Amino acid sequence: MEDNYRHQGKRKLLAEKLADKGIKDEQVLEAIAHIPRHLFLDSSFEDHAYQDKAFPIAAGQTISHPFTVAFQTELLQVKRGEKILEVGTGSGYQAAVLKYLGAKVYTIERQHKLYKKTANFLKNIGYSPKYITFGDGYKGIKAYAPYHKIIVTAGAPYIPKDLMAQLKIGGRLVIPVGEDPQIMTLLIRKDVKKFEKYTFGEFRFVPLLENKN
Ligand code: SAH
Repeated sequence: MEDNYRHQGKRKLLAEKLADKGIKDEQVLEAIAHIPRHLFLDSSFEDHAYQDKAFPIAAGQTISHPFTVAFQTELLQVKRGEKILEVGTGSGYQAAVLKYLGAKVYTIERQHKLYKKTANFLKNIGYSPKYITFGDGYKGIKAYAPYHKIIVTAGAPYIPKDLMAQLKIGGRLVIPVGEDPQIMTLLIRKDVKKFEKYTFGEFRFVPLLENKN
């Protein structure tokens, strides 16, 4: 698990490229420039880790494009100490970015193998979230709700009600909605029943799968 000056140089360039593409939040760019993304990928992709590309991880899933991670994180407006729920742990990269920004991260993944692998990996590199679990993200993680912010990192056919219910008043929910592509959507909870909705163009994610029991 090497992280050398070559990797560091490449991710500085990646952060500059994301700034050119429109990411403005300095903290987010700093997180991208800091976190060793190549360690989150299979070593066969190591050389490409700092290009703005999505890559396969375990169990047929993908780690999102750095631009997508940066874009969603910027929309969250993370502040230190906030409780953030992430749906779709995947490789753990997004969770690491949120932790770097000082958030208390609660993350859920529906693939057991991937959950196990990522929980171990994040611990090994010193980026353990506050809480990581295996289960159905449509239901959120009720035990620790409400959250200041919620981020969904898989394409949702609709906005799950349980996630809306687990958002604090004043909180932000960032979720890609639709089949293919998805529309990046931001909900701001104004009051118990009042949500404001904003949309931000097309993205492509693996689907947020529903357990059909
Ligand atoms: N945030 C991840 C992106 C992973 S891709 C990263 O930084 O790497 C999306 C992930 O969502 C996949 O790992 C997939 O297994 C998971 N997923 C899909 N449906 C889910 C659900 N209903 N609940 C929780 N996780 C889900």
